[in-house]
Amino acid sequence: MKITNDKIETDFPFCNVYLECGEGWYPLIWGCMKEIQKYCSRVDISPPKVLQIKEKFGGLRMYLAQIDNSGENPLLLNSFYDIMNIVERYELISSLYCQMCGKAINERTRVNYHAICESCSNIKKNK
Ligand SMILES: [Zn+2]
Repeated sequence: MKITNDKIETDFPFCNVYLECGEGWYPLIWGCMKEIQKYCSRVDISPPKVLQIKEKFGGLRMYLAQIDNSGENPLLLNSFYDIMNIVERYELISSLYCQMCGKAINERTRVNYHAICESCSNIKKNK
C-alpha cells in the first residue's frame, strides 16, 4: 500500500504534520511512528506529539514534544529517552535511502548531501 502524508496522519493522530521531505522516506516515517505507537501502548503512556518532520543535511529529522512530566515521574523520563532512541535509529537509516524514490543509495551515487540517488537527480534536472 502506498504511504501518503494523509495515511500517516490518519494512522497516527499524534503525527499531524506536513512532511517536509521526499515521499521516498514516507515508509520510514510510517515505520517509526508505528514503533513509537507500539512502545507507548506497551508502557501505557500517550505518544508525544510530533512537531516537525523534515530533511536536513541529507537525513530525516523528526522533532517531538517533550512528554508531560509535571509529576516528575522518573519512569516517564526514561520512556522519553527510549522514544528518542527509536527516532534516532530511523534518522540514521534515512540517509541510506533516496528520499525521492526510496531506493538504497551509496556514497558513489549520492548527489550532494540531499540523499537523492543519481537517477532521481537526473529526472529533476530534465524537468
Ligand atoms: Zn531516487
